[in-house]
Amino acid sequence: MLEIKNLHVKLEEEDKQILKGVNLTVEAGKVHAIMGPNGSGKSTLSYVLSGRDGYEVTEGSATLEGKNILDMDPEERAAAGLFLAFQYPVEIPGVGNMTFLRTAVNSQRKARGEEEMSSSEFLKVIRAKAKDLEIDAEMLKRPVNVGFSGGEKKRNEILQMAMLEPKMCILDETDSGLDVDAMKLVADGVNALRSEGRGFLVITHYQRLLDHIKPDVVHIMSEGRIIKTGGPELALEVENNGYADIKSEEA
Ligand code: ADP
Ligand code: MG
Ligand code: MG
Repeated sequence: MLEIKNLHVKLEEEDKQILKGVNLTVEAGKVHAIMGPNGSGKSTLSYVLSGRDGYEVTEGSATLEGKNILDMDPEERAAAGLFLAFQYPVEIPGVGNMTFLRTAVNSQRKARGEEEMSSSEFLKVIRAKAKDLEIDAEMLKRPVNVGFSGGEKKRNEILQMAMLEPKMCILDETDSGLDVDAMKLVADGVNALRSEGRGFLVITHYQRLLDHIKPDVVHIMSEGRIIKTGGPELALEVENNGYADIKSEEA
């Protein structure tokens, strides 16, 4: 589904190399987790994949179902099936949450040559999915994320993901700032979307999210590279021993 090869990325503004040769393949139907210390480049990886400005790819490639995504505009990547749930969801004053989602869903459908969702169908679907995530109707009418609590913002990211039904879902620390109940809701939302045709890349600081979203593969990122890959037990190792052992092992 997603294939990243030898990806090197620097900041456009400064001569600072952030990703130093990332290799990662996420198969359809699988959940891969990335853990790693703060500042190791996890968010940068998610930004570069989704097409945020300010980064320059100096070497390597990233493909989604064999298509080079690095040359695409962000909306083309989204239409191709890529989705990023932000670590820090953005507030968009003046744009209603429901309007935003309907526009996003229908513009993606259009870009794929599919029929638009009717208003009545859209309402039916969004109400059901919002209910699962305990997002009330009033929150759907408010401007995107404006005045939402941290947990509400994160649940709203999952609602977007559920509505857009992407092929490749990247979640950047969606668990940070969530209490246990909200984290369970988010995890249930993700698990409901797990399917054979869909890949997940779950970036997290904490092992506890991975108790609820069971990953197939766990990667450890440090200083712009993946330094170790293993099964779910690797997350437990990190929880118990921190990153120091893995780093010295690698060195
Ligand atoms: P993580 O998500 O793993 O905590 P980030 O990808 O946010 O790491 O950051 C990786 C490194 O790149 C950090 O040292 C961070 O300070 C730096 N960095 C990322 N984006 C910028 C930027 N726009 N300007 C300056 N430094 C940046
Ligand atoms: Mg960080
Ligand atoms: Mg980050």
